[in-house]
Amino acid sequence: MESPLPSQEGSSEDQERLVALKAFRSAGKGSWASVPDAEWNDWKWQLKNRVTRIEQLERLLPSMTREERAGVLLAGESKLALAITPSFFNLIDASDEFCPIRRQVIPRVEETTTAPWETLDPVGEDDHSPVPGLVHRYPDRVLFLVTDRCAAYCRYCTRSRLVSNASGYDFHPEFDRQIAYIAEHTEIRDVLLSGGDPLLFNDEKLEYLLGRLRAIPHVEFLRIGSRVPIFLPQRITPELCAMLRQFHPLFVSIHTNHPRELTTEVREALGRMADAGIPLGNQSVLLRHVNDEPVVMKALVQKLLLCRVRPYYIYQCDLIAGSAHLRSTVSRGLEIMDSLRGHTTGYAVPQYVIDAPGGGGKIPVNPGYILRKSATKVILRNFEGKVFEYPEVPEVAAMAPLSDSSMALGKD
Ligand code: SF4
Repeated sequence: MESPLPSQEGSSEDQERLVALKAFRSAGKGSWASVPDAEWNDWKWQLKNRVTRIEQLERLLPSMTREERAGVLLAGESKLALAITPSFFNLIDASDEFCPIRRQVIPRVEETTTAPWETLDPVGEDDHSPVPGLVHRYPDRVLFLVTDRCAAYCRYCTRSRLVSNASGYDFHPEFDRQIAYIAEHTEIRDVLLSGGDPLLFNDEKLEYLLGRLRAIPHVEFLRIGSRVPIFLPQRITPELCAMLRQFHPLFVSIHTNHPRELTTEVREALGRMADAGIPLGNQSVLLRHVNDEPVVMKALVQKLLLCRVRPYYIYQCDLIAGSAHLRSTVSRGLEIMDSLRGHTTGYAVPQYVIDAPGGGGKIPVNPGYILRKSATKVILRNFEGKVFEYPEVPEVAAMAPLSDSSMALGKD
């Protein structure tokens, strides 16, 4: 037996932080206190009143730094646009330059620095696109990009070449062509609608699209990737949920990175989707000074379960141009995975993946649990660092057919 790993359960200070991070709070109305409830709770009002300009930020975020100011002035010109819904904006801690919410949505001048290994299309989506707006990288499934608009814009977005049209990508998907391709390729059994954010479509448009995909006999499974339940929980109306439930099996992958994003309003919105029978999964991106700490990630995954969402993936941040200031290390990601596996509910443990640069697809990355492997045994370590031996079944014996006599005796 080797000596155990240092305890991952954390200090009492970590325990207190965990409890605090898991507390559900309302986003509140904040600077929009005078707005009537009916408007505040209307998703179209939230979209119309997004924070998009420097003058608004000067008023709402007087602590804006020089780096942020310079970033904001560039946003929308040659860089991903600035847009933040009022309800998400209220989660920003104006007194903290390193606020994890702030870092995700307020542009910074570092976005203009591109490391040699960073590109506009880091996972090679355009090279796997048989028709505009459709990515066919894996054998049996496609990514169906439906729009370049989002409720708010994440500064590390893998598709920042495309979303918000700030870099002139001029994205105009032709649904007929995308759907015709899916109909012609009978190997496609899984369609993931993404973008941009599909839940920004009105109910009628989304119903039309989902209906056309559901009418293709070989499409077994539909998915929607959306950050709307987080940025715009008001959009998750009972009417939307009633419409979506016609298209089962339909899964929704949400995207949240920090436990503070899971407010009481978000929990209720996710509950409405879960009540409509929609299985929910979460994808997070590992981000520096946002969630690259074991206690923060543990609070996030446990809080997701409280919202009826299964943590699905943690992505190593793609090599998107201008994202180096937000990228954490793979070592940090592995440390976080080590702090989760065995230390919390298995359902709360996502898969950590690196989306291979250039289009190699998602590659799972795990801490080393297999210490040694030979033809006769596997040496493993558990979550406490204790070492165990598991005998390997001899290949020949495992393959040997049963003899007639052993079958007659009912042996197996
Ligand atoms: S919501 Fe998704 S697609 Fe939109 S900016 Fe954020 S990461 Fe990109």
